[in-house]
Amino acid sequence: MIKAAYLHIPFCEHICYYCDFNKVFLKGQPVDDYLKGLEQEMRLTLTQHPIEEKLETIFVGGGTPTSLNEQQLEQLCESINNYLPLVANGEFTFEANPGDLSKEKLQILKDAGVNRISLGVQTFDDELLKKIGRVHRAKDVYASLETIRSVGFENISIDLIYSLPTQTLADFQKTLTTALSLQLPHYSAYSLIIEPKTVFYNLFKKGKLPTPGEDIEAYMYELLMEEMAKHGLCHYEISNFSLTGYESRHNLTYWDNEPYYGFGAGAHSYLDGVRRSNIGPLKKYLEQINRGILPVQEYHTVSISEQMEEEMFLGLRKIAGVSLSRFQEKFNQNLIQIFSAEIKELTAKKWIEVNDDNIYLTKQGRLLGNEVFQMFLGVFD
Ligand code: SF4
Repeated sequence: MIKAAYLHIPFCEHICYYCDFNKVFLKGQPVDDYLKGLEQEMRLTLTQHPIEEKLETIFVGGGTPTSLNEQQLEQLCESINNYLPLVANGEFTFEANPGDLSKEKLQILKDAGVNRISLGVQTFDDELLKKIGRVHRAKDVYASLETIRSVGFENISIDLIYSLPTQTLADFQKTLTTALSLQLPHYSAYSLIIEPKTVFYNLFKKGKLPTPGEDIEAYMYELLMEEMAKHGLCHYEISNFSLTGYESRHNLTYWDNEPYYGFGAGAHSYLDGVRRSNIGPLKKYLEQINRGILPVQEYHTVSISEQMEEEMFLGLRKIAGVSLSRFQEKFNQNLIQIFSAEIKELTAKKWIEVNDDNIYLTKQGRLLGNEVFQMFLGVFD
């Protein structure tokens, strides 16, 4: 059963140097047409894949959803509430950037039922913020958090990025200390990945991007885990920490390898065993949807063996790991037997461990996450 929906708002007021998300510079874009297109996409999709029971999570991400003006935010929320009914205790998240959040916009979100805000902070170091192409500064984060809290939101998350150009371990420690002093219930922290087609990628290729290097990055990750634990935050996914009960239920849908709707330019969805990706460029997305055709660019039917591989690839991101009994229930197969060679190799390396009902990363394995996850892909080829 489909319990989650993602909506993509691809507009940003500026473009950050490291970002490879599907986004465009806001000025001059057909935002109102896009919102109508989104509504049309929801209508068409739900005709084919109706909601059986109310959804449990809705996540509006981007881009920068809060770059929309008040009227546009109201319209977006109205469409969402019309088409995507949410259970009474559902999680309804909006991503936001510090600096573009007025009290009025937040009140619109609150009135529409939004109950979780995820704020893209990245670092509290103003010099580093400049270097990575962000326009907000640390003071904007404090001001935004004050406004968010004053409107009555308490389920707040911030995103951090580490291993930034020129960043030292001491710099990261300072950012962590500041972040934790804010006493938020949820933190995400990702190491910088240099993606093609970004400003950073070009600098990197020219040898002009002084990143701290793998060793410092590993120390930063260890520091992150230590500091979060010291402050009572539970490490529940490789890059995510929260107080009990504040885990991102929406993102857990992905890591649990469950189906979800995805609406908007470049959005992905997983419906009835088929992974789809939407057309990315805005103009093409709108052309297609305005002709009454779903703007899907690619369909991939996931075979049972791929589903089992994905269960591992995604599920091992969770610190609790993959449940053996859940795997048995879902696929009618014994996980340990299916992946016996991989499990043998990884346990010998001490990168994973198996207990009564779970297979999970060791602390050492967390540092090498991607290497571990990839071992479970292509096993049946
Ligand atoms: S990081 Fe966020 S704000 Fe910056 S360009 Fe990417 S989507 Fe926009």
